[in-house]
This record gives sequence, structure tokens and C-alpha cells, in this order.
Amino acid sequence: MSATETMYTAGQWRPATGGGVREITDPADGAPFATASEGDARDADAAVAAARRAFDTGPWPGTPAAERAALLLRTAELLRRDREEIALTESRDTGKTLEEGRIDVDDVVAAFRYFAGLVAHEPAGRVVDAQDPGVHSVVVHEPVGVCALITPWNYPLLQASWKIAPALAAGNTFVVKPSEITPLSTVHLMRLLAEAGLPEGTGNLVTGPGDPVGARLAGHPDVDLVSFTGGLASGTAVAAAAAPTVKKVALELGGKNPNVVFADACESEERFDTAVDQALNAAFVHSGQVCSAGSRLIVEESVRDRFVTELTARAGRIRVGRGTVPGTECGPLVSAAQLARTEAFVASALEEGAVLRCGGRRPGPGPDRPAGGFFYSPTVLDHCRRDMRVIREELFGPILTVETFRTEDEAVALANDTEYGLAGAVFSADTARARRVAGRLRHGTVWINDYHPYLPQAEWGGFGRSGTGRELGPAGLAEYRETKHVYENLRPAPVRWFRG
Ligand code: NAD
Repeated sequence: MSATETMYTAGQWRPATGGGVREITDPADGAPFATASEGDARDADAAVAAARRAFDTGPWPGTPAAERAALLLRTAELLRRDREEIALTESRDTGKTLEEGRIDVDDVVAAFRYFAGLVAHEPAGRVVDAQDPGVHSVVVHEPVGVCALITPWNYPLLQASWKIAPALAAGNTFVVKPSEITPLSTVHLMRLLAEAGLPEGTGNLVTGPGDPVGARLAGHPDVDLVSFTGGLASGTAVAAAAAPTVKKVALELGGKNPNVVFADACESEERFDTAVDQALNAAFVHSGQVCSAGSRLIVEESVRDRFVTELTARAGRIRVGRGTVPGTECGPLVSAAQLARTEAFVASALEEGAVLRCGGRRPGPGPDRPAGGFFYSPTVLDHCRRDMRVIREELFGPILTVETFRTEDEAVALANDTEYGLAGAVFSADTARARRVAGRLRHGTVWINDYHPYLPQAEWGGFGRSGTGRELGPAGLAEYRETKHVYENLRPAPVRWFRG
């Protein structure tokens, strides 16, 4: 495989049909550091044809679950072996810190192991009591078929794995299309799947832009399921493209995630320290480019000044630099476009009356911050209101907005006042209240006195416009399965409905 042969179809590495090549940029200096094949609809068609053939005539769908699980476990081991190399790739490709890249690899290993364990020991089917001794009725699960897996740039390896592991565990074949700006870790993963022994055509990779490559996959008549993670606009385009062929569609879209802090979460020094620390963690990890980023702090009015003062002091000390440099806490934004978007959001908030507490600018070059990098300082915007653009839209940058509430009902109303519904958190020393509020939040994941952790055993996904379907957990496997009822009459006899 050469640097520009990043397409993997029918067990072969190859360049784009049209010869297209894309330079992959390091967001820490804005300079190209790798290349990838830039495919088009013809490459999507070739990959789908390979996946279709492998599903219809290849060994994978009929491979016993224990053997499929064994391949996933071998892949997990190979990921562990290549952990440092992959973490470095992910850091250079996305800008995230090396440590975040390592955590991503560890999380991905856990996901491969989880789905292996889920299918390795499950019963072959569920026998249904037909309440008739003459009937044997069983419900079984079968793979859906050819799966198109389309992923974003913020967690390239992780998002691909959350789809590939369950798709393979369930016996499907797939075509994965990573974001065109961060394809490298998915290329590495594909190499590891091949090394682990994935049969030819079972897994295919097409690199290239959302339109035409992703759009072609979403609309392709030979694709049975499309699982998409990305923004709302692309997600609705995918759903529309998939509709005429009635594919199964799973969408993991954006979020506008509230972090609700009650005054009692600040009553001791230790609790206060934790709540402030977690508010920073919620908003600024990966420079806020996280679908579940808690960029919307909703804090009880009585503690607002103390909370925001401490938060601002700490946000101002966050070390912004190249993700691969030890000690960096926030890397650059992924692209010049993302930087421009962040600047536009801050400008709109200030125009609409928000108060800038810290950040709000590019930090300027330094020893660990090359001049061409897409860096932006962690920013706190106080006195935000729910009608502001910065409160209504997903930010996906290092911006934390502050709103306040006086009553529990008001906190819940603010937290739920969004078209999205991906994730949120509540911080309170009152367990009953924290659980009550968690129960009222219309978001797919709610943390109590914590922010960001997730478990491969627990479903991940959104309410409202944050998407349809779930990843991880048993439901994350069920997405990739058809359900079939086999009804067997043990005492066949005529029914005589028609008597002629
Ligand atoms: P994006 O929507 O621009 O792109 C995502 C993927 O879709 C890319 O591979 C892109 O090439 C492809 N694509 C774009 N247009 C397409 C089309 N018309 N048809 C088919 N494919 C198309 O998103 P992004 O900017 O890469 O990622 C950021 C977004 O992803 C944010 O909104 C974030 O919240 C979301 N996200 C959600 C989750 C989650 O779990 N819910 C996780 C990570 C990211």
C-alpha cells in the first residue's frame, strides 16, 4: 500500500479510480503531512459491489458467532500493539492531544472486546410460547446485509469502531467512509482487520468527500443499512438519500448539551473544586469538538459569580498547543473552517450582549504553537440568554456559555430548551434532586456529578434531532440485525378456510 492507495476494496489496496489525491493537513501548523486517495461515486460503487458479493456468496454471514468474536478479539489485540502509532496518527490528523489519542485507542479496544463478548455466548434464538403444543416458534437474529458506515472527523477511530465492531459481530459486510479530512486512523484499522483475517470483501474502505462518496453510499440500492455520525445537515441529507430504497438508517448527530450546576454542588471546597473542574472538562476537552461537549453551563444564580470567577481563572491557564507536545491540554481546532466558525460564534454572542470573561481570540504563536496552526483560546461567555445564536446552535469549539436559573423547574426548562438531546449533566449534593432532574432531562445520556464518561455496555445516542438509533450496548448490536420469526407447524393439517 502506498501513501495514496487508501482505498480497500475486495481485499486490495488501490488508488482512487479517477486518480484523485488529497493532502491531509496537520492542524497544529496548517501544513500537509500525508496524502489520501480522493475517491468519487465510482469508488463507492466498487466498494459496495465487493461488500454485496461478500455478503451474498462469502463466508462471513455464515461464520459461527464464536469465530466472528475471535476475529474481533484479535483486532483488539492488534490495536493494543499499535496503540502509540495510532494515537500519534490521530493526534496529528485531528489536533487532539496524544493522551486523548491513547484513550481513544483504549476505548476502541474495549468496544471490540465488548461486542465480541456479546455475540460469543448468546443463545441461537428465542423460543416463543405459542400456547399450542403443535407449534414450535422461534425468533432469530440475522445480519442486515451491506452496511454503509459514514464517520466524522472528531473521533475518527472511535466512531468507525463503534460501527464496524457491531456490524461484524452481527455477520454483516461493510463499506466505511471516514471524514475526508481525517481518514488515516481508519486506514490503519482496516489494515489491522485484514491482518486479523477478515475475509476478502467483508470490510471495504472508501476515502473521499461526503458528496459524492457518502451521498452515493447512502442512496445506493445495494446498501441495506446506513449508519451515519456527523452534523445535522449532512444527517438529514443522508436520511433523504436513503429513503427511496427504504434502508435502515441510524443517525448520530450533534448536541447542545447542558451542564446544570446547583448551588449545593458548591457548598464544600471539595465539591466546588470538582464542579468547576468538571465544567472545564465538559467544555474544553478536545477544544470542545465533542458531540457531547457541555458547552452550556446552567448555574444557580446564587453561586454564579464565585463559580464563573474560578472557572475563568482556570480556563485562562489551559495550555494550548500542538497536541503531540507533552503538557499540552488543548490542541488546535481541526481546520481553518472550524476556527473561522468559532470566531463567528464569539462575534455573534458579543453583538447580542454576552460578556467575554476570557479567551475570545487566537492565542498567538509560541514554541509549541506554530504560526499556521488553528489555535483558539478557551473562551467563557457570561450573561448568555436562550435566544442567542450561541445558545441555540451547536458550537463545536472551545467556548463555554453561562446562563443562570433560580428554581429547579427553571433549570430543567433551560436544559431541555434545545432541538437536540444528546447528553447533559447535573451537579448537586442532594441525591434525590439530582436523580429527579436527571429523570426530567430529555437527553440520551445524563451524568450526575460527572461529565463525559461512557461505557461500551451502555447505549449511546440522542433524543430529538441528535439522531435516531443507538450505538454501544445491546441496542448498538441490534441496529445491525434483522429479526426473523420462524413458525413451525409440528402437526401439519389442512385449515379448510376454502372449502371448494
Ligand atoms: P459532517 O456532517 O460534516 O461529516 C460527517 C461525515 O459525513 C463525513 O464523513 C462527511 O464526509 C460525510 N458527509 C457529509 N455530507 C454528506 C452527505 N450529503 N451524504 C453522505 N455523507 C456526507 O460532520 P463533521 O463536521 O465531520 O463532524 C462534526 C459533527 O459530528 C458534529 O455535529 C458532531 O456533533 C457530530 N458528532 C456526533 C456524534 C454522536 O455520537 N452523536 C459523535 C461525533 C460527532
